[in-house]
Amino acid sequence: MSELTRNPFDPLMQVQKDAYRCGKCMLCKWIDHNEMTDSEFMAICPSGARFRYEAYYASGRQEIARGLLEGTLDYTDGLQHVLFTCTECGGCQAVCADAGNKNPLKTIVALRERAFRDMIATPPGYETLRKSLQNYENPWQQPRSRRDAWMRRMRLSDPRREKVEALYFVGCTAAYDPKLQEVARITAEILTRAGVSFGVLGRDELCCGSTLLRIGDWETYEEMAQRNRELLNSLDVGRIITSCSGCNSVLREEYPEIGGLSAEVAHSLEIVDELIQAGKIKLKKQVKKEVTYHDPCHLGRYSGVYDAPRRILEAIPGLEFVEMPRNRQNAFCCGAGGGVRTAYPEFSNWVAAERVREAASTGSTMLVTACPFCEQNLGGIKKPKVEVVDILKLVRQSMG
Ligand code: SF4
Ligand code: SF4
Repeated sequence: MSELTRNPFDPLMQVQKDAYRCGKCMLCKWIDHNEMTDSEFMAICPSGARFRYEAYYASGRQEIARGLLEGTLDYTDGLQHVLFTCTECGGCQAVCADAGNKNPLKTIVALRERAFRDMIATPPGYETLRKSLQNYENPWQQPRSRRDAWMRRMRLSDPRREKVEALYFVGCTAAYDPKLQEVARITAEILTRAGVSFGVLGRDELCCGSTLLRIGDWETYEEMAQRNRELLNSLDVGRIITSCSGCNSVLREEYPEIGGLSAEVAHSLEIVDELIQAGKIKLKKQVKKEVTYHDPCHLGRYSGVYDAPRRILEAIPGLEFVEMPRNRQNAFCCGAGGGVRTAYPEFSNWVAAERVREAASTGSTMLVTACPFCEQNLGGIKKPKVEVVDILKLVRQSMG
């Protein structure tokens, strides 16, 4: 067994009880049995579905935790692959919690954290990713000066200079990816047209640190997240609006552990849903499309936002909305999360292709999502059979 040398504290000790409570019922292989509608789309765990061995399911990872705790297991390249091919989608968590209130995701996070602290098991690409986050405060190795490129021709308030009610926290993917900057522009346009008082931080926005947390680098995460927390708490705003489901869940669910935010956090689609209900956004134009919706793991399973996107889609005139066999808490991941996109792009693409295949099986021509990171991965596969778009693009289209 590898000894902990860098830190006396072993993250696995905190999840010991959960690791030993796994009864190997193997429910974490599949979606909820009562909600299975299509035998082709019943798998819930991307890494298990791809690599097949039990080690790649939550049950196997619980056993690995026990092995490391008891000293009967050693770190190997194979173990590294098992630990870091989990997308941290939370599918196993949803099924396992329903079955007996255990917490396999906590064990998975602790396994990574311990591997990272031991400096033994860090997969390809992680060092570059960490350096990019440390040097440029984004995961894309892009200069800070380009962070506001998406808003160059827009006049938006700066919450440090003008009194506004909300901050629009754009996030690294929508700010930097030229194909996804449209999401940021559309969001700002919709909020402006609906009369929302908001501002943006432009090139001074910081990364939320989500990627570092997911890959297990707690120390760098905490340092980055604390700086971001201080910046956000220095603003006099009541709400922080995010586009990315990863930013949303880390600000909402994880920042409380490091002190919390003074403002409430909401995803842009929750705000748009509220504005539609309040009559401040009028959906007038027909959008004649057949669409299905991909629940981003960090918006759905992590933050419980399932109804708002469906209400929006139902409110768009002309739109035909049909559910995928795996939806809501049974949704299959897009394959990008948990650092998998960086370390194992081939596997990440395989997961995305599976999800797109499922979307196409509904007869829809469009796969709608609400997270730039999901959109990037789902839309990045070769010859996707459906068009992948952000939900707010359809809202803007219907507003005219
Ligand atoms: S992790 Fe949970 S669902 Fe999976 S085998 Fe163990 S107890 Fe069952
Ligand atoms: S978090 Fe997702 S990928 Fe990881 S073990 Fe659970 S279901 Fe599988």
